[in-house]
Amino acid sequence: MPIVSVQKSASYDEVLLDRVIAAHFEALRAADDLKPGMKVLLKPNLLTGRDPATAVTSHPAILRAIAKWLRAHGIEHITLADSPSGLYTPAALRKVYAACKLTELADVLTLSEDCSSREKNGFHLLTPVLEADYIIDVARLKTHGLTVMSAGVKNLFGCIPGLQKPEWHAKRPTLDGFSDMLVDLCETVKPDLTFIDAIDCMEGNGPGGGTVRHMGFTLCSRSPYAADEVGAQLMGLPLSMAPVIQAARRRGLSDGSVVLCGDELTPADPPFQLPDAIIGKEKLFTFNGLFHHFFGRKRAYPKLIPDRCIGCGKCAESCPEHIIQIVNRKAVIQRKGCISCFCCQEMCPARAIEAVRGR
Ligand code: SF4
Ligand code: SF4
Repeated sequence: MPIVSVQKSASYDEVLLDRVIAAHFEALRAADDLKPGMKVLLKPNLLTGRDPATAVTSHPAILRAIAKWLRAHGIEHITLADSPSGLYTPAALRKVYAACKLTELADVLTLSEDCSSREKNGFHLLTPVLEADYIIDVARLKTHGLTVMSAGVKNLFGCIPGLQKPEWHAKRPTLDGFSDMLVDLCETVKPDLTFIDAIDCMEGNGPGGGTVRHMGFTLCSRSPYAADEVGAQLMGLPLSMAPVIQAARRRGLSDGSVVLCGDELTPADPPFQLPDAIIGKEKLFTFNGLFHHFFGRKRAYPKLIPDRCIGCGKCAESCPEHIIQIVNRKAVIQRKGCISCFCCQEMCPARAIEAVRGR
């Protein structure tokens, strides 16, 4: 049965996080995995260039604590790599690193600027991912407008470079198909450890436009699926509403059996507020098993809030179906052809896209 280590972690204080990381890795006997000369990759969540206080991206204090623990255990080759949304170039990466306050980590790890990728199992993956001997998936617990929650498994989507990510939305336009693809990807990347930062999480219109919800926990497991199951529990999310967990269960990769160790988990009360793409304003959603019925019948679509739109074009750049145009410095979103992936909402820096239900 997979172990999920749970630690209460009230803040991003450096001394506290050093203790928390040591407790997680001790519980999972992570030191036994390490060998001199090993290349270790930290895969953070760098959705886009945002201040970590917004809970959109990984917190540098977490990454520093992990890197320090690795260095104290003789690992010197520590690389951080991720593919944010949009163009994947060294210049774009440097901007994201600066906005996410990751440049301050240069004394403990290398911020990758390698934008090459290679094919494995039908995926093009970042070269640093393929070259790593050991991968630590460092996710942040958030809601998500398509997959309902974003944690360990969903975080690995950033192993696919730049604008190839929207292409996967187009190739797998259904929620089940996309969730299956994420499990395929997870089985390809095979992270050795999955760490979930649930200190300051995101609820509402995650993963990019929600609000911060303090939970004060961190989770860690050798199983990304088990880590996600406990993450869902922490959010107060019924597992029937977590399509990636359901996809993993269908394939026998998880059956919900988990051994919790460390601190006692206190699930969110009330549960995390869900993205409006999931709930819908007409409150059709209920928690007693009707979700899929209504979600299937009344699909949500993106709608522009014109007063907020600044005409930046990030939604158009991320739309896998190429149905958004910028006209007179405002986004024009065509309904026809929309696959309701909500990449546009995810990427909008101005919270100018809402979800409306039905045609
Ligand atoms: S308009 Fe938005 S939700 Fe529709 S396909 Fe494009 S990115 Fe996805
Ligand atoms: S909707 Fe958002 S992402 Fe699209 S152009 Fe307007 S501000 Fe930019």
